[in-house]
Amino acid sequence: MTVAEALRAAAARLATTSDTARLDAELLMAHALGVSRSDMLLRHPADSVPEAFAPLIMRRAAHEPIAHIIGHQEFYGREFIVTPDVLIPRADSESVVEAALAAAPRAQRVLDLGTGSGALMLTLLAEMPMTTGVGVERSGKARVVAQNNAASLGLAGRAEIRAGDWTARGWADDLGTFDLVIANPPYVETGADLAPDVRDFEPAEALFAGAEGLDDYRIIAPQLPGLLTDQGIAVLEIGASQGDAVTKIAEDQGFATQIVKDLAGRDRAVVLRH
Ligand code: GLN
Repeated sequence: MTVAEALRAAAARLATTSDTARLDAELLMAHALGVSRSDMLLRHPADSVPEAFAPLIMRRAAHEPIAHIIGHQEFYGREFIVTPDVLIPRADSESVVEAALAAAPRAQRVLDLGTGSGALMLTLLAEMPMTTGVGVERSGKARVVAQNNAASLGLAGRAEIRAGDWTARGWADDLGTFDLVIANPPYVETGADLAPDVRDFEPAEALFAGAEGLDDYRIIAPQLPGLLTDQGIAVLEIGASQGDAVTKIAEDQGFATQIVKDLAGRDRAVVLRH
């Protein structure tokens, strides 16, 4: 069987598991061949299929995310190392990056709450070459991933990855203030019925936030005045149905707000200004 034939068969095999079956098959084949996807499609369609390919397809057919199988995920045009200890960077969150770049293009100091893989903060640092950032993360394993991403993107000199837990008293005492605070906190309703790819493979502590999915906004919002400079701006990712609720939580702290939509037209972020 050639690579081209195996890709067709694998895409058919994955059609019931994945909305992106053909892309998944291509990413796994490229991984098995040890080449980039574009290289594989352009140069290797007639090669023979590596033995490693079929087991990778079986893993994906059992709902394991592509990012876990191949160990990385593209976000805003850059590759991020991903392990099961961090939320997989999602295309939806690119709207948070866009919103932050638009709202605070001259930010000198950025704080990312719950930095995970570092995708949000490191993307902003890469896009804003004079900016430094602090990524706070409670999970030690996630901090290793963020640190590795900072290093692989050449951003370690401008990115500080720090232990911290915003539910703990005094956690931010020596952080200082920031021109831009970003966060993709957990916002899924605890007990919500998630797709198996997410539910069985991604970290629950990055996803679930109480009965309404609002617990972390309620904890974070009152702390923002102390974390922001006078002109500082915060951009919080939200779930598609949380625009009104998070707006209210932010307004209760005296912020003016603006809702940002993602490419699918769903509410995806709230921008907070003094
Ligand atoms: N958007 C993610 C999902 O639906 C949730 C991310 C989060 O809770 N921060 O899987």
